[in-house]
Amino acid sequence: MRAIAPLPDVDTQDRLPRASFPKRPLPLKSIESHRLPDMTHHARAQSGVRWIVPVLLLWSLAVPAAHPEVQPASQATALLVSATNAPLRVLGSDGMEHLEYDLLITNVFTAPLTLTSIEVTGPNGQVLLRLAGDALAGKLEPVFYPVPNAKPISSIPVGGMVGAVIDVVVPPREAPRRIGHRITYELPSDTPALSLIASRAIAGPELTVDRRSSLVIAPPLRGNAWLSGNGCCEVRSVHRSPRIVVDGARFVKPETFAIDWLRLVDGRLWAGDGTRNEQYFAFGAEVVSVAHGTVVSVRNDMPEEMPGQTPVAVKGPGDYLGNHVVVQIGRRVWAVYAHMQPGSIPVQAGERVTTGQRLGLLGNSGNSTQAHLHFQLSDGPDYLTSTSLPFVFDRYTLVGTAEVESSETVPGSPASPTLRVIGTPRTEAGTYPLVLTVQDFR
Ligand SMILES: [Zn+2]
Repeated sequence: MRAIAPLPDVDTQDRLPRASFPKRPLPLKSIESHRLPDMTHHARAQSGVRWIVPVLLLWSLAVPAAHPEVQPASQATALLVSATNAPLRVLGSDGMEHLEYDLLITNVFTAPLTLTSIEVTGPNGQVLLRLAGDALAGKLEPVFYPVPNAKPISSIPVGGMVGAVIDVVVPPREAPRRIGHRITYELPSDTPALSLIASRAIAGPELTVDRRSSLVIAPPLRGNAWLSGNGCCEVRSVHRSPRIVVDGARFVKPETFAIDWLRLVDGRLWAGDGTRNEQYFAFGAEVVSVAHGTVVSVRNDMPEEMPGQTPVAVKGPGDYLGNHVVVQIGRRVWAVYAHMQPGSIPVQAGERVTTGQRLGLLGNSGNSTQAHLHFQLSDGPDYLTSTSLPFVFDRYTLVGTAEVESSETVPGSPASPTLRVIGTPRTEAGTYPLVLTVQDFR
């Protein structure tokens, strides 16, 4: 297991556009013509002196004609853009390094606006990722979570914020230390105060890429044919998308790298009609510790849910993981094992565990609609208010990638996909199994 350094503090100032000033001092007339809040009459009525002084100051700034014009580096913009986190790196089972973060884009102007492009740039200005048209629309989501079957986001309303899922893919060991952005947008021609906005392009934010290596761990399951569901870095996955505000103060991405493991047998996830947990091939598998560590929390009393049904026992934030174990495995790293069978967990809080030690049996408790193991690493003991951390497995066999071959719907039963696994099995060491890949563990 490789130790990792603590999270570098993300400098908020670094991620936000600097304080904005117009390109040159605005003649007062232009402000009035756009009907911005007009304080002048009020000020004039109260005190002629207070009114005269600002006019003189503005005028004196506006006419230094003898000096060459200095172009300020800053400008007024209609967007406020920040990032959810410093980009986190993981080496995927595709052999490429993935940088994961989301942009948060807020319309701070006077009319609905349309994003037209997002470019992620490297230190020399080279374009690492360009999103425009349908590719851009496919990455824009409501901030908290995408609404199922919602129309693509075409414009951002006044005061509205959207999240843009960013997955930058670069060759291994070529991830830059810092990345920048170029973002372009459009405003309708009748937008109030439009002349305040000199350019429809933003340079920034600049982000420092997290330099930590992914933690190397052992797999949390044994045996063959484990399908990585909802793993990184698919857009609109139940893990990749959620953005949660903590204490009204900051965003976290709690599940970016979390994986839901299901088990495939002859292209199917269960035998029979899929209405009983025991029919699922994953159900009852041993869940084992991915590293040495100390158990910090356990829950062992939640009932199994019904396959394919909305969970009934999830009443509060503490119920989502169902029966679970959280183990601290590093200075600021916690491993989370969720949705296990009631009464199956043999360890207790405070207990030391070792790599490979049994932690419970795979089940369908908590916020779960079929038997699976939800596993992730977090930078805090409470997964919901912490950031999901990348990880890689020391060794496993990558069997291939699953594709849906067909899906039948039987009334009263869960939708039943048949999956085909494409590819040639190979041994992987030190990579993260990307979404929909199939793994054999020892
Ligand atoms: Zn999950």
